[in-house]
Amino acid sequence: MGGGPSNEMREAGAAATTAFRDGFGGTIVLPGDPGYDRARAVWNAVADLRPAVVARCGSPADVVAAVRFAREHDLVVAVRGGGHSVAGFSTCDGGVVVDLSGMRGARVDQGARTARVAGGALLSELDVAAQAAGLACPVGVVGHTGVGGLTLGGGMGRLMRRHGLTLDNLLSAEVVTADGRVVRAAPDEHPELFWGLRGAGANFGVVTSFEFRLHPVGPVVTQGAVRHGLDRAWRAASSVAELAATGPDHVFLGLNLTSAEPGSSGPAVSAGALHAGTPEDAERDLAPLRDAAAVEDSIAPRRYLDVQLMNDDAMAWGKRFYMKGAYLPFLTEELVETCAGRVAAAPPDCEISFWALGGAVGRVPEDATAFTGRGAAFWLGVECLWQDPARDDEYVAWGRAAMGALQPFTTSGHYVNDMVESGEAVVRSVYGDAKYERLVALKRDWDPDNVFRRNQNVAP
Ligand SMILES: Cc1cc2nc3c(=O)[nH]c(=O)nc-3n(C[C@H](O)[C@H](O)[C@H](O)COP(=O)(O)OP(=O)(O)OC[C@H]3O[C@@H](n4cnc5c(N)ncnc54)[C@H](O)[C@@H]3O)c2cc1C
Repeated sequence: MGGGPSNEMREAGAAATTAFRDGFGGTIVLPGDPGYDRARAVWNAVADLRPAVVARCGSPADVVAAVRFAREHDLVVAVRGGGHSVAGFSTCDGGVVVDLSGMRGARVDQGARTARVAGGALLSELDVAAQAAGLACPVGVVGHTGVGGLTLGGGMGRLMRRHGLTLDNLLSAEVVTADGRVVRAAPDEHPELFWGLRGAGANFGVVTSFEFRLHPVGPVVTQGAVRHGLDRAWRAASSVAELAATGPDHVFLGLNLTSAEPGSSGPAVSAGALHAGTPEDAERDLAPLRDAAAVEDSIAPRRYLDVQLMNDDAMAWGKRFYMKGAYLPFLTEELVETCAGRVAAAPPDCEISFWALGGAVGRVPEDATAFTGRGAAFWLGVECLWQDPARDDEYVAWGRAAMGALQPFTTSGHYVNDMVESGEAVVRSVYGDAKYERLVALKRDWDPDNVFRRNQNVAP
C-alpha cells in the first residue's frame, strides 16, 4: 500500500497523542513520524499495513491504556509480540498496534527450574537465559520468533517429543483483559481462561508475562541432517517414520523436501534429527538415519544454543511468506512421492516438511488444552519464501496446489499458528466443533465485544 496517512489516521493519531500524553510510559509512533515504517513492519512482508497508532508499551499499565484508548476511539486492536504471525495479524490498517516489543527479557529461577518471560520476548532470550542455568523450555526453531504468539498457539520444536509443546510448559500467565483488568490465569486461578490461552490464546487478552517450567538440556546435543537426492525421498522418509515410531522421546525428527536453489545441485530431501541424550546414545539411536549413499551427513555434537539460532539468518525479516499446514496419521510412500513431485516442480525456496509428534505431545489428553492435533503422528507444513511482490500469485498458487494434492493424506485439525487464511470455517477446522463451541463460551466471558479479533478469531 502506498500514499501518506488518511485524514482519519491523522485525527486518530492526534487524539492518541493527547490521550496518551499522561501516564503512558512507552512510546507512541504515528503515521508521518520518522520511525513509522520501521515500527509498522512485521516479519511477513506480505502484511504491509498502515496502523493509525503504534503504541510501544513498556508495562502492563501501558497495555491497559492502549487497549482502553483503542476501545474509546472504536479502533481495531492488533497485538504484537515477536511480529511473526504468518497471516500478518500483529498489524492492522487504521487501528492501534499494542506493540510489546519494548517488554522483553526472561528471568530464570535455577533452583525452581522456572522462567518468567515478558510478553514481547523472543525465543532466543528465553533460550539464552535458560541455557545459562543448564536448562531449556521447549520452544520453536527460529530464535527471533516471539514467545507470545508461539506459546498462545502451541509451540512445536526440537524438544517437544521429550518435554511437550511450549504451552504444555506454561505454568501461569498475566493477562490484560478487554475491559482493562490485569488477571492471572493458572490451573488454580481462572482455569477455563488458562485452558483457552493454551492454543487459542490471542483471542482472550494481552499476555504481559508468562511463567514456564524448564528442564535440564545440553549444553551439547547431537544434531544434523542426512541429505539425499529426491529419488531417495521414500528411503529417507521411511527411516524417519521408523525411528519416530520406535525411537526414544528425546529424539526430534523432521523430514524436509526442498526445491532447487539457484546454483545448488537440485531439489533434495533431508532427514533431520536432534538427540538430547548423550553422544554415545545418539550414535546408536540415530544410526537408522545414516546412509553411505547420502549426499551429505551433518549429524554431529553441537551446542544446543547454536542449534536454536542456526536458522535465524535464513528466516530473516523482510521476505514474503506463504504456508499451509496439516496433520498426518502416518507417512506413506504415495504421500512422500507426491511431495517429491511437487517440490521438483516448485520455484526456489519452497519446501514441504514433516515433524514427528508423539512422545510428550501425544501423552497430554486432547481436551486438556485448546490446542488440537495431539493424536497425529506428524505435522506437515508447505512453505514458500520469496522477495518479489510480482511473484505473489505464483508462490501462493504453488502452496495451495501442493496442499491440495496432499489433503487426502491428512487427518482432522490444524495448527493455528500455521494458518494464513482466516474466517470461521478455517478456525472451526483448527479446533473442531466441540472445542470451538467451548472457546466461543470463553470468548463471551472475557471479550464479548471481540476487541481481540486480529487473530484466528473465535467470534463471541
Ligand atoms: C520464521 C518463523 C519460524 C517459526 N517457527 C516455528 C516453530 O519452530 N514452531 C512453532 O510452533 N511455530 C513456529 N512459527 C509460527 C509461530 O509460532 C507463529 O508465527 C507465532 O504466532 C509467532 O509469534 P509472535 O509473537 O512472533 O507473532 P506476532 O505476530 O506478534 O503474534 C502472533 C499472534 O499472537 C498474538 N500475540 C502475540 N503475542 C501476544 C501476547 N503477548 N499476548 C496476546 N496475544 C499475543 C498476536 O496478536 C497475533 O494474533 C514460526 C513462524 C515464523 C515466521
